[in-house]
Formats: sequence, C-alpha cells, structure tokens
Amino acid sequence: MHLQLLLADITTQPVDAIVNAANSSLMGGGGVDDAIHAAAGSELLDECIKIAQSRRPGEPCPTGDAVITGAGKLPAKYVIHTVGPVWRGGTKGEAELLASCYRKSLLLAQENGIESIAFPNISTGVYGYPKEKAADVAVNTVRETLKETPGIKKIVFVCFDKENYSLYQSRIEKP
Ligand code: ADP
Repeated sequence: MHLQLLLADITTQPVDAIVNAANSSLMGGGGVDDAIHAAAGSELLDECIKIAQSRRPGEPCPTGDAVITGAGKLPAKYVIHTVGPVWRGGTKGEAELLASCYRKSLLLAQENGIESIAFPNISTGVYGYPKEKAADVAVNTVRETLKETPGIKKIVFVCFDKENYSLYQSRIEKP
C-alpha cells in the first residue's frame, strides 16, 4: 500500500480516523492533543472523561495502549487516542512502546471498520523522542502491521514540521 505523507494540521484531515498523541489521563496534554480537542469541541472531552472513569484510576490509558472515541466537530469520524512513551534515553523500552502505539492504533482501526487513518509524529513533541528514531519505528511498524489489517486502505503520516517531513520522506520512498 502507498503510504501518504503530508505537512499539515492533522485536525483538517478528511479521513475515517485521526490518531491523537494523548497522555495516559486522556485529559489533555498540549501539542496535537490540544489542537484536536480545540477543533473537535467539548463532546470529545466528554467522551474521554467517560472512558477515563470506566478504566483504571490514575492511568486510564497506559503508555503504548490506544482507545477510540467519536470525533466531535472534526471532519474525521473517529479519534484514536494513543499514549506514546516519554524519551528517557532509549533504555526504558521506548522503541517497543512507540511501536505498540502504531500497532494498537491500526488494530483498533481495523476492528472498527476504519479504512483511512492519519497519524501524527507520536512522542516527538513534548515527550522528546528523537525524530529520526521515531520515524524509523513509525514507518517500520506501520508497514509490518498492515499485513494484518486488510481493511485499512489508506495511511497518512501528517507531519507538523519540515524536519519530520523530510525524515519520513526518505523512509517512505525506500520500499
Ligand atoms: P507528544 O507528547 O507525544 O510528544 P506532542 O503533541 O507534543 O505529543 O507532539 C507530537 C507531534 O505532533 C509533534 O511532532 C508535534 O509537532 C505535532 N503536532 C502538534 N500539533 C499538531 C497538529 N495540529 N497537527 C499535526 N501534528 C501536530
């Protein structure tokens, strides 16, 4: 499948689902999460609060896991909230946890009949994951997981800065 690459604001993407780089409280965390909640409206936060209340106190969505909600006023139909790892030097399982974010998001999308999905550059903002290493994990994990998700027809990597865009470009152009 052709992986698409854009330099854009993920909240504008007309896909079935956009992925949010959330934090484990599901209660907002700056960056792309703020942009998604601002554009989606209060309905999205209400859904996140409900999920948080029905899950583990303190850590409703553990690092590497993903949950799905509607998308409020966004053009997308769903938001998949996944919690990336905070970079702690690379020896605390960060790569496995970041891979788990991409994998679980795709599996959750497949379960929900989603055909098109847009990913931000998870963990590369406030969480400080080195962009080059994160791009490797993102592209490799998506390529691997797509073998198990035949219902997914379109993947868009939505970058918000030129550095990430060119890192993804070199990885996506390589078959
Ligand atoms: P994390 O805490 O996982 O690092 P951030 O939201 O701080 O999450 O950053 C994740 C990535 O999302 C960063 O590369 C950041 O530049 C990007 N980003 C921020 N706002 C948007 C947006 N509106 N659309 C797409 N990507 C965005």
